[in-house]
Order: sequence, then structure tokens, then C-alpha cells
Amino acid sequence: MGTDIENYESVPPIIQNNTNVELTDYFCPFCNYKLFRGNVIEFNMVCSHCNKLVKSAMISAEEDSKY
Ligand SMILES: [Zn+2]
Repeated sequence: MGTDIENYESVPPIIQNNTNVELTDYFCPFCNYKLFRGNVIEFNMVCSHCNKLVKSAMISAEEDSKY
């Protein structure tokens, strides 16, 4: 039964690509409520907390020009 160890090294390693995907948390610019978590470039949605329309351009623009 001990000979199985030699064959163990020939087994290719399991590559888990999903572990490298980084998800970003998106927050409402009005009330700071956490909208959702994901990896998107653009989105338009209504905040379920303050019911205001949140666009992805609003959040990215805020980070670029910090006063
Ligand atoms: Zn909100």
C-alpha cells in the first residue's frame, strides 16, 4: 500500500482561477449604504436605502477629484 506515494507527485496541481478574482464593494455616494459586491465597470441602480439613482460615473468621479 505504501507505493501509492510515488504516483502522488505526477498528479497535476489543481489550479483555482476563481480565487484571484477580486470583488469590489460599491457604496451609495448619498447615504454610504452598501449597494452590492462585484466586479463591474458601469452600473445604474437605485439605492434601496435612500431610493436615489446611483451611477457608476458618480462614484468613480468622486474618487478622482478629492476636493
Ligand atoms: Zn443611498
